[in-house]
Amino acid sequence: DTAVMLFTRDLRVHDNPALAAACAAARHVVPMFVFDEALLPASPNRVRFLVDALRDLDGSLRALGGGLLLRRGDPVAETVRVAGRAGAQAVFLSGDVSRYAARRLARLERECEAARIGVSALPGATVVPPGALAPAGGDHYKVFTPYWRAWEAAPRRPAAALPDRVAPPPADGLTDRRCPDGHVELDVVAEKFAAGASPDLLAGGEAAGRERMRRWLDEGLPGYGDGHDDLAGDRTSRLSAYLRFGCVSPLELAAAARGRPGGEPFVRQLAWRDFHHQVTAAFPDIGRRDYRPRDRRWHDDADALDAWREGRTGLPIVDAGMRQLRREGWMHNRARMISASFLTRNLRVDWRHGLAHFGAWLTDGDVADNAGNWQWVAGTGNDTRPNRVLNPLRQAARFDADGAYVRRYVPELAGLDARDAHAPWRLPPEDRRALPYPAPILDPEP
Ligand code: FAD
Repeated sequence: DTAVMLFTRDLRVHDNPALAAACAAARHVVPMFVFDEALLPASPNRVRFLVDALRDLDGSLRALGGGLLLRRGDPVAETVRVAGRAGAQAVFLSGDVSRYAARRLARLERECEAARIGVSALPGATVVPPGALAPAGGDHYKVFTPYWRAWEAAPRRPAAALPDRVAPPPADGLTDRRCPDGHVELDVVAEKFAAGASPDLLAGGEAAGRERMRRWLDEGLPGYGDGHDDLAGDRTSRLSAYLRFGCVSPLELAAAARGRPGGEPFVRQLAWRDFHHQVTAAFPDIGRRDYRPRDRRWHDDADALDAWREGRTGLPIVDAGMRQLRREGWMHNRARMISASFLTRNLRVDWRHGLAHFGAWLTDGDVADNAGNWQWVAGTGNDTRPNRVLNPLRQAARFDADGAYVRRYVPELAGLDARDAHAPWRLPPEDRRALPYPAPILDPEP
């Protein structure tokens, strides 16, 4: 009569089908999270956000009756161990698509089977579960537009109820003190693995995510269609990291946005997220290999790659984006496209280098969305126009017409008007030399 709820990237109590199923299946539920030390060093920004989210989740679970058990080590071994000690008959978790998650689930199923413990993986990470939609004659959609049509028409699961109670098993040796071997303190994790995080990160967690969602739906959504490409306007939801860690339910967000003014273009972006997840479920190598192999000859240029990473390419619109990434652990979507196109198309550097750098800094960094978008820009992915190249100067003129974005993130250029801020190489030589800003690493106006 006991179940384990293994939280992974579904760090919420609202609309969490796995949590609701665990609470419906068993009288006692042990909610747990395992820090996999193989993943922790990947990104201080995500660890910072994760620690916030776990702290918030623990508070919500305590209010429902039982706090979150935190462990470190191999998630499969720890889960099986905790389930064994708790005398649990079943483990519940949310389904996920990365290669890592798929392997974790397969191992968990094997080891639980040997211990006669059931495993249920439930949907919740996307609006429409990966694999639920497939075109005639294929196992997944390779192009967005037909996927979007099918996605809009697809039935939705009902939202999962908020459990009234998450009752822990009676005293059973699971309390952290009596079971100290794998126990973790969040402060210790943060100190060790969140050092070097960006200064201007959003606070993680379901409470912060729901508050942002509420405000966004009321105040931001109506202007999204017209404003979402305005680089300096801050007119996107910035809900991506909350979606990444499951602090906000994509199903609930899409349902709430649908039918409101401004809803359609926004919901379409949530469908893009689902799209990349269903591609990744079918092609788990998305972060390693070309989805559509093309004859691209990549150019090894360590200096150019460093300049790009550090935001000193001498192209202000590119550098502004790259510096926003370091400062905020987030970058505007338009800036992501411009900087990714510059790296892969102009510098001809392999998209995997860009993917790794974004993966290290993005709080919303996620295999499916990061790799799916990098491959889209690099022309090896799902773009129906794989040869498109974004011209950074034209993009700058269009999406940062008054130069406010560049001035905000590249303070060396703060005193210039839009024309000069976007093309400081055109300044008279003595003004140019006085600027502590590098010359372009390649000819910006060939
Ligand atoms: P909004 O414009 O408010 O959109 C709402 C939500 O829709 C986002 O939070 C996100 O979940 C989803 N979404 C929007 N655009 C996309 C898209 N193109 N693909 C997938 N989902 C989308 N997004 C990530 O969540 N994680 C990543 O690792 C990631 N890497 C990217 C790498 C590159 C090279 C590019 C070009 C884009 C990447 N994106 C990624 C997509 C997009 O840039 C971000 O989702 C968006 O900027 C997040 O800001 P927001 O929440 O304000 O977005």
